[in-house]
Amino acid sequence: MKTTTRVCVIGGGVVGCSVLYHLTKLGWSDVMLVERSELTSGSTWHAAGGFHTLNGDTNMAALQGYTIRLYKELEELTGMSCGLHHVGGVTLADTQERMDMFLAERAKHRYMGLETEIVTPEEIAKIAPVTNIEGIIGGLYDPLDGHLDPSGTTHAYAKAARMGGASIETHCMVKETNQRPDGTWDVVTNKGTIHAEHIVNAGGLWAREVGAMAGVYMPLHPMEHQYLVTETIPMIAEMIDSGIEHPHVMDPSGESYLRQEARGLCIGFYEQPCRPWAVDGTSWDFGHELLPDDFDKIEDSIAFAYKRFPVLETAGVKSVIHGPFTFAPDGNPLVGPIPGMRNYWSACGVMAGFSQGGGVGLSLAQWMIEGEAERDVYAMDVARFGNWITPGYTRPKVIENYQKRFSVSYPNEELPACRPFQTTPAYNIWDEQNAVFGAQYGIEVANYFALPGEPRFETPSFRRSNAWDATAAEVKAVRTAVGINEIHNFGKYTVIGTGARQWLDRIMAGRIPKQGRMSLTPMLSEKGKLLGDFTVTCLSETTFQLTASFGMQAIHMRWFLQHLDGDVQIENVSTKRIGFQIAGPNARELLSRCTRADVSGAAFKFMDAKTLSVGMSDALVQRVSYTGDLGYEIYTDAENQRALYTTLSEAGKDLGLKPFGMRAMMSLRLDRFFGSWNAEFSPDYMPAETGMDRFVSYTKPVDFIGKAAALAEKTAGPARKLCAFVVDADDADVNAYEPIWINGAVVGFCTSGGYSHHAQKSIAQGFVPTDLITDDLEVEIEILGQMRTAKRVTEHLFDPEMKRMRG
Ligand SMILES: Cc1cc2nc3c(=O)[nH]c(=O)nc-3n(C[C@H](O)[C@H](O)[C@H](O)COP(=O)(O)OP(=O)(O)OC[C@H]3O[C@@H](n4cnc5c(N)ncnc54)[C@H](O)[C@@H]3O)c2cc1C
Repeated sequence: MKTTTRVCVIGGGVVGCSVLYHLTKLGWSDVMLVERSELTSGSTWHAAGGFHTLNGDTNMAALQGYTIRLYKELEELTGMSCGLHHVGGVTLADTQERMDMFLAERAKHRYMGLETEIVTPEEIAKIAPVTNIEGIIGGLYDPLDGHLDPSGTTHAYAKAARMGGASIETHCMVKETNQRPDGTWDVVTNKGTIHAEHIVNAGGLWAREVGAMAGVYMPLHPMEHQYLVTETIPMIAEMIDSGIEHPHVMDPSGESYLRQEARGLCIGFYEQPCRPWAVDGTSWDFGHELLPDDFDKIEDSIAFAYKRFPVLETAGVKSVIHGPFTFAPDGNPLVGPIPGMRNYWSACGVMAGFSQGGGVGLSLAQWMIEGEAERDVYAMDVARFGNWITPGYTRPKVIENYQKRFSVSYPNEELPACRPFQTTPAYNIWDEQNAVFGAQYGIEVANYFALPGEPRFETPSFRRSNAWDATAAEVKAVRTAVGINEIHNFGKYTVIGTGARQWLDRIMAGRIPKQGRMSLTPMLSEKGKLLGDFTVTCLSETTFQLTASFGMQAIHMRWFLQHLDGDVQIENVSTKRIGFQIAGPNARELLSRCTRADVSGAAFKFMDAKTLSVGMSDALVQRVSYTGDLGYEIYTDAENQRALYTTLSEAGKDLGLKPFGMRAMMSLRLDRFFGSWNAEFSPDYMPAETGMDRFVSYTKPVDFIGKAAALAEKTAGPARKLCAFVVDADDADVNAYEPIWINGAVVGFCTSGGYSHHAQKSIAQGFVPTDLITDDLEVEIEILGQMRTAKRVTEHLFDPEMKRMRG
């Protein structure tokens, strides 16, 4: 056995083998994989082998497309068969909500180059004749759907990796992973110790146990899952004899997926009475075995399936496959470097190994070898969960995810499991004022405040929801008086030390402000991609505060710690330093009533930051607001938050002070076309194409990270640019990724949108090729299957001269 290696991949399921292959494909051949038994000994061997491209996250869908296209390449490279059946698949809709979801998905697919189609019930009956179309109103057909041989495919990955120089050691059980002071690893196995520069946890069903060997908690949980294979079904046999393969049929109402298997069918269920498996850990003794059949659990699902697919009722059951596989709390994989650790990589929690395994392997290999993945992998980044995540959170969320596997996912939906979890001291204050909460990165956030008599629940919808009137009232309060909301959902960091300015100058692409001032700056990757949009505040020459997206905390801290050098200490104070934002024409008067300091426009200018006494609390007050209005962010220690609220609310009584939530905030920002993280800004984009170049200091005498790439982009000129549009919408606004059409062709896509309650206009932002952009550009945007005229708008919808914001 090889005893030194650059990479040791732990686990020989489909995911580990894909990672190994992709490492060799991208140029690392000194790599090995260790498997405690034979390859495929975890979930992989008993998978149904189905694959599909559909995923709510656009980049995940693209990576699923990559995975599916890879199989042909693997077959050609290795001469082995993956047992591919590209039969296509149709997902059924029996409600308008589901049709809306399909229409939104279909629209996204247009610019992604995926050839999905909306089909009628009659077309479904033709292409998938086992389906009883009663009650079906349509479907989404995906020609890329299909199935394969799980074992053959895993062995094809393994052979391709070996051809690229990798070695594979089976019956080699990892017992310990011990890190040396230089960051390399001793991987202790039953066959001896391997010294590896990097390790990859691809332990699948045992990923939790493998992680624990290095003190790492992997937020995933195994669930039991069952599918049945029937004896011969005459209708299927006849089709096969005529050379036709039956396509996959996904029936979300029945929570089932169905496909042809030999001359019969195979049907699996995501049943509501589902069961988590191995709650206290996966036994090392679990081998190539199945769980006992359990028909009770799927009784209702089977009864539903008999109605939808009547041929099943008379078909004999040939075999039952009941096995476990792992899920992360949101159902997407856990990939990438573990925050706070050196050379420890995750490739776990992959619940659809045959749809996602290729994309996971490719992204991880790029990350390890090139320092970053080629596209934004936030949706599967292991660091999208912070250190607040616990087994007690993971398990109920995984159950929720399993149960909702086939549910419609709405853009405004807030899932109920594990809520409320984390809260700030102000939670009860909002609760008493009818707040309708959502959750961001584990913490409760007020989305809006229900009007008297309204339910405290936002109806999930692709169209305008019941939060409409309440949001309009909150927007009005901000624009005409003064609004208050919490600023807890910003990621906040303090950077302290004699080397702080120098370090910030290198890690941030923009200007670092003088004492008492703030600046906006992107943080870039080496390839010039956006990693964050930060506000930097200089409190003193050795003390700075950074704020950025709340959900990016673990990702940003991972980046900071990877690049930390010199006399600099950085601390994540996101939940320690909280407070309020006040915004609107009366905001200055309100602040002046709460402090003895001079907060006049001349003394406290836009982008100034001051340490003030506000009521009883010492606070950092920043003159800036994402509402685009006159506004202040007031940060204090968490234990002062309630007192600060009392001060502000007492003083604001006769100034029209009203609370506002995230829905209003996202409406208000549209008036100024402010971008938002994970929409206009993400690692998919570079500064100049998003307009963030105005905050990049290309000329500062520092070789900041990403400078060369950003300069190259700026010099060449971006091929596409963000534009804002007023949309002739009806009852649905742009959400994200709707295609933008010009003269019957898709030329771009939307990044975000919504309704400006202030301007009473539907607004969209999106990318358009630079050479097509004119001041009076008119395009069409496809919203839920309808073409909507949209006109470019360049003048801000509120305070275009910025008299309020800067005055
Ligand atoms: C009934 C069922 C049906 C399914 N159907 C589908 C489907 O149709 N399509 C689809 O895409 N997915 C399907 N899946 C899910 C699919 O099986 C998983 O996504 C996939 O197998 C995950 O692969 P993996 O490599 O991450 O994990 P695993 O297959 O669990 O592999 C992990 C490997 O790591 C090894 N290992 C663990 N610890 C150690 C150690 N300490 N030392 C050495 N080796 C170790 C294990 O022995 C194992 O071989 C199904 C799952 C089930 C249960």
